[in-house]
Amino acid sequence: MKNIVILGSTGSIGTQTIDILDSIDVKVCAISVNTNIARAEQQARQLHPSVVAVYHAEKAAELKSRLADTDIRVVSGMDGLIEAATLPEVDIVVTAVVGMVGLLPTLAAIDAGKDIALANKETLVCAGQIVMKRAQEKGVAILPVDSEHSAIFQCLQGAGGNKIGHILLTASGGPFFGMSREQMRHVTKEQALHHPNWNMGAKITIDSASMMNKGLELIEAMWLYDVEPEDIDIVVHRESVVHSAVEFVDGSVIAQMGNPDMRLPIQYALTYPKRLPCKVPPVDLPRRHSLTFFAPDEEAFPALGLARRAAAARGNLGAVLNGANEAAVALFLQDRIAFHQIPELVEQAMDSVNYMPDITVDDVLESDRMARAVVDSLV
Ligand code: MG
Repeated sequence: MKNIVILGSTGSIGTQTIDILDSIDVKVCAISVNTNIARAEQQARQLHPSVVAVYHAEKAAELKSRLADTDIRVVSGMDGLIEAATLPEVDIVVTAVVGMVGLLPTLAAIDAGKDIALANKETLVCAGQIVMKRAQEKGVAILPVDSEHSAIFQCLQGAGGNKIGHILLTASGGPFFGMSREQMRHVTKEQALHHPNWNMGAKITIDSASMMNKGLELIEAMWLYDVEPEDIDIVVHRESVVHSAVEFVDGSVIAQMGNPDMRLPIQYALTYPKRLPCKVPPVDLPRRHSLTFFAPDEEAFPALGLARRAAAARGNLGAVLNGANEAAVALFLQDRIAFHQIPELVEQAMDSVNYMPDITVDDVLESDRMARAVVDSLV
């Protein structure tokens, strides 16, 4: 039995992790939430963790009184998240929080020797060189939860150490596939929040619509698999059945397929190297009839080019890209900017914030702050 912590337990990945717990042999030692106290109380009573971390301090006090009849400890703030992520009995930390807030608890967990089931892509986008180096030094595994990166990880099982030629990173194309940049000037929030295949949180759904999600995943893949950005090809695959593929130097392509349901990659990260029966039904290929593949339209989706630029530059440009994007997506969700302004604001932040080739954790946090400040100053 493995002891796990779920950071971000009330979000989309967090709740889907809890949904598969009865299929796998794990105990949840701690959970963390941002502000959703009602759900946190329900999860705490269901899972009996020893610690619940609530990022928001006032909400933590509220949960404490709600759980007064239990022996569950409620902690708060970033210190609370870090305490949850480093509990001595824990083997794996599932980092399912959204955004930059995941960086410090992930680093603390690595320092404490915990394996990471990584669902928080921002951690690698912003601080890939720091995180991967430290994981290697501490001998901890970074187990990808993102479906594409799990697919690549699965394709590499049995590769016998043979080198990756290219990674084929698949993308659904989102709700605006086939639209021009001009047409995207008129799309609404409701349209952007309607993903054709995947059921996900609001931030990542908007990122999928702008294809920034694929850009962030390209940077994530570069760090996870130690490949150059030009060795990662983005392939639009509308059906989301092939979750990504690896092309080896002899031209042979190994792909991983499955229904688009995050419970499968979550489960594999937690049971690796074992495979166990899963609630997700297998993909029924004959009923699918066909699978289609397209090159992405980089003109219509400028986020892809911005991410390639950040990937090639490394340094603090990933943190700037990500911070500006988080700020811009938040403004879009508040109806304060139009959809097409998201990549425009990101680009302006990338042009404005000073580039730093070598970065510390403080540089990452500062670059994130400066990128958000640029976006706020422009709106
Ligand atoms: Mg993904």
